[in-house]
Amino acid sequence: MRHKTRTLRSAEDLASAGLIAPERIEALASIAARFAVAITPDLADLIDSADPADPIARQFVPSEAESDVKAYQRADPIGDDRHSPTPGLVHRYKDRVLLKPTHVCPVYCRFCFRREMVGPGADQTLSPTELDAALAYIAGHPEIWEVILTGGDPFMLSPRRMAEITARLAALAHVRVLRWHTRMPIADPERITAELVQAIKSEKACYVAVHVNHPRELTDRSRGALARLSDAGIPLLSQTVLLKGVNDDAATLEALMRALVEARVRPYYLHHMDLAPGTDHFRTSIAEGQALMQALRARASGLCQPHYVLDIPGGHAKALLSRSDAERTADSYRLRDGERAWHDYPPG
Ligand code: SF4
Repeated sequence: MRHKTRTLRSAEDLASAGLIAPERIEALASIAARFAVAITPDLADLIDSADPADPIARQFVPSEAESDVKAYQRADPIGDDRHSPTPGLVHRYKDRVLLKPTHVCPVYCRFCFRREMVGPGADQTLSPTELDAALAYIAGHPEIWEVILTGGDPFMLSPRRMAEITARLAALAHVRVLRWHTRMPIADPERITAELVQAIKSEKACYVAVHVNHPRELTDRSRGALARLSDAGIPLLSQTVLLKGVNDDAATLEALMRALVEARVRPYYLHHMDLAPGTDHFRTSIAEGQALMQALRARASGLCQPHYVLDIPGGHAKALLSRSDAERTADSYRLRDGERAWHDYPPG
């Protein structure tokens, strides 16, 4: 049952909801002024405010640690800008593009790799002209086989706008796959309505990748939202970020992956934390992540094994953090991308 009824958006809201002590309002208001805050009723109700280490609170309630910005952290940690031919579009890999129609999200994750870009603001959604330009670019590049709709969270759009984007992409003969990345089934499951499900369906293959980090996020309500997508024939994938104090132990990761598979979600990516500003308190080491993946392999079915990946800073694509793509150096790592080129990874 839900107790809280509206999204919490400020330090004052968090104090009123009992999620922070009143004496922290001032410090956290200044953090919230830089990195947006939003916690939906579903997620606020999941937080155990009596537990100072609650893994749900850790993901969404801002912390004073966010003001500790390290020299090696970057506003654009995975190098989207370098590969952006037109606003809202990233063409990093030949056969696929990211299309980011909006920069708003139902919740704001404290570790978000796009935290400098997401949040309420003047340029929240692509203007009709910008969307036309992005779609014209896709139309003019027949090598684009897959369009990944991300953001922000594209499920924040109205079903009418989602249906319009789906129809325009589906009309391009060379675009064969549409993949939507979203946190909505977890953050606000009731928004996964029949109308929304209908809006993303077309004659082209449609996948939904759901961002989930802890087994407690898979409530009855979020499982219901996932089932509405699955029952409509939409295959589901997961994305999880490896987060210190949230899911950096084998038992939690195993429980999460099993719960996802039981909810008909195929674990896809386990992301190593990107170098986003003020997020050092969430980062594990690559060696810890590799050990966790080994433990997961020993404990659970092949269906429960995501790819452990790191987006190489600077826009050099992903390294699969199997031992052969991550090589230790004196103070850090060298990472190998999909084209087998090596890149230095900052120490820290
Ligand atoms: S939902 Fe995704 S894009 Fe939005 S704040 Fe969380 S991680 Fe960032």
